[in-house]
Amino acid sequence: MNPSAIDTDERPFVLVWELTRACALTCKHCRADAQPDRHPDELTTAEGKALLDEARAFGENQLVVLSGGDPLARDDTVELVEYGADRGLLMTLTPSGTASLTPDRVSALADAGTRRLALSVDGGSRVAHDEFRGEPGSFDATIRAAEAARDADLPLQINTTVCAETVDELPAIRELVADLGAVLWSVFFLVPIGRGAVLDAIEPERAERVMEWLAEVEIDERFGIKTTEAPHCGSASRRRRHPTPGGSRSSNGMTTERATRPTLSGDGRASRPATASPSSATSARCSPPVSSPNRPGTSASRDW
Ligand code: SF4
Repeated sequence: MNPSAIDTDERPFVLVWELTRACALTCKHCRADAQPDRHPDELTTAEGKALLDEARAFGENQLVVLSGGDPLARDDTVELVEYGADRGLLMTLTPSGTASLTPDRVSALADAGTRRLALSVDGGSRVAHDEFRGEPGSFDATIRAAEAARDADLPLQINTTVCAETVDELPAIRELVADLGAVLWSVFFLVPIGRGAVLDAIEPERAERVMEWLAEVEIDERFGIKTTEAPHCGSASRRRRHPTPGGSRSSNGMTTERATRPTLSGDGRASRPATASPSSATSARCSPPVSSPNRPGTSASRDW
């Protein structure tokens, strides 16, 4: 479904269900302030299916994001995906990059009808990502899951948080996004709430330079780019052609949107319906990020 065709007076653009507060990671920016254990009052499987029935009442192809916490901290996630997909919902998932995110689970999610998998990458290297995510091994688990998604023809979205601690990682992350064959890079400018309140957002002038760079990147790359919570980026705003309540499309195709609380995941972001088919993704295997002479601005030392 074309997102711009949705009348949000009639139906929500996206429904985000935070299945659980549980997550094995301790990311510095976690809006949800995720905890190690599940909450006893989480919806049961039967209650969750009833919720999906309500979502279906909005119509076919209603976009649903299963988030958290880590949605895979529950053992009924695949069952819920299958239930929703069988009823015509567009089921997507934002699992955390943990050891439990195995290729077998990714394959099971694909078989159950998942329409898109969104994974977070906040560093271009193992060290940088794991430091931000608070768990050694998260980077490797994320890359492994991304490769499994590609093997299963499951469209992949990469989410990245932009703050003072991660901004210099963007060129290397851009390389990863391309090499992993992602269809969309969701770049989220930090909202200082939850655990993220202790982090530093980047200054507006610096954010604008990042936006300009992102606009160049989207022209050069095969993946799309969506930015969130970057209203101070005047130059990017002037490129918008078709403002809508949920977002807008710039002249170079970049989508911008304001974060709204009901659609925030643990990372504070939501997915959009797939706009590119799996066949539009590169088939190259993921390799360690390296600067490419064909990709301007990929130097990790770029001056923002
Ligand atoms: S941001 Fe996401 S992955 Fe990180 S601790 Fe919160 S819920 Fe877990």
